[in-house]
Amino acid sequence: MIAATEYSDRSPSIVQQPAGRTSKTMIDDNPMQLLREDLRDFAGYSSARSEKRAGRVWLNANEAAWPSVADGEGAVRRYPDPQPQRLREALAELYGCAPEQLLAGRGSDEAIDLLVRAFCRPGGDAIVITPPTFGMYAVNARLHGTRTVEVALRDTPAGFVCDFAAVAQAAESEGAKLVFLCSPGNPSGTLLPLAEIDALAERLRGRALVVVDEAYIEYADGESATTLLARRRNIAVLRTLSKAHALAAARIGSVIADAGLIAVLQRCQAPYPLPTPCVQLALRALAEVPRNTTKARVTTARSEREKLFEALRVLPGLRQVYPSQANFLLARFDDAQAAFDGLLDAGVVVRDFRAAPRLGDALRISLGTPEQNAAVIEVLTRLARVRGVAA
Ligand SMILES: *Cc1c(COP(=O)(O)O)cnc(C)c1O
Repeated sequence: MIAATEYSDRSPSIVQQPAGRTSKTMIDDNPMQLLREDLRDFAGYSSARSEKRAGRVWLNANEAAWPSVADGEGAVRRYPDPQPQRLREALAELYGCAPEQLLAGRGSDEAIDLLVRAFCRPGGDAIVITPPTFGMYAVNARLHGTRTVEVALRDTPAGFVCDFAAVAQAAESEGAKLVFLCSPGNPSGTLLPLAEIDALAERLRGRALVVVDEAYIEYADGESATTLLARRRNIAVLRTLSKAHALAAARIGSVIADAGLIAVLQRCQAPYPLPTPCVQLALRALAEVPRNTTKARVTTARSEREKLFEALRVLPGLRQVYPSQANFLLARFDDAQAAFDGLLDAGVVVRDFRAAPRLGDALRISLGTPEQNAAVIEVLTRLARVRGVAA
């Protein structure tokens, strides 16, 4: 007998939005007014799974009747639930929001893409970014024909600092729809003050959505910007299972925002974005015991961060190492090429940032296991000694 599984259908249909829900009842801080006007009542592709039917035999989605030989239990024979409720609830609990304020997708990379497409007109509009920063904001804007306005982080002796006044001014004067902040920043390592994010969102209310990418927040001392959502509707927070949760290949990230916005973003998303094996893996990882192991991993990474930071700080030939609230350190070298090559000779690959503006002498070193970090210190110390002898 065929088990009754969840309803699935690939035939397109149009779902009508309740009349007046977006444009008529608009209030000042309703972030719906920031969306592309032509998408506000866009129904997207409907998989009709929302129509819960009491069927036992599902012959509505052209799936195979028998499982693949590679799929013992038949776990992947059917199209997956677009937003599995259990996953949404587990993620919402993890991030401290309501399930309807959260959309899960293929990494936060997909969330960035969805936000650009939903808020910026193709071939128009603008986003603001604060370089040096994560490359995908500009990549998605470019693919969409949207302009990228750069407000450089200030490089101070204490680290990279965001000039919030300049960000606000740029967003206003350029009419930007999205402001991408990264906190802790990649590659800067800087955690942005929540009070400044709050003030920026307040100032840009009704004009722009402030997106706070918190891919590394688990490693930081501060609180998440999700705590601002109760009073700021024009903030969206990006979280991911790829970094501290050690599930990069499962590709599960979340955008957390106003529930109305989340509903629109879901209608812009691909029909079945979350592969069932990835969802099952994530649910297992988010169960109580492994969650403690995530905490333990983060604690170890944080203490390794301090150790590596202190070791790099006194290393001859090292110009500067930036304080970091993430799981990597950004460092400037007298001879970055020699450091990069020396590490590579020892089999250690670090990220070369020399092609990035203002980072012509910089490498980014991800924190590894204590043994791996010790090897990095050992190689760099040996190189410095050799250089010292040669000089
Ligand atoms: C790694 C990273 C991401 C990508 O996360 P995924 O969820 O794996 O797509 C997003 N933002 C920043 C700043 C990152 O460094």
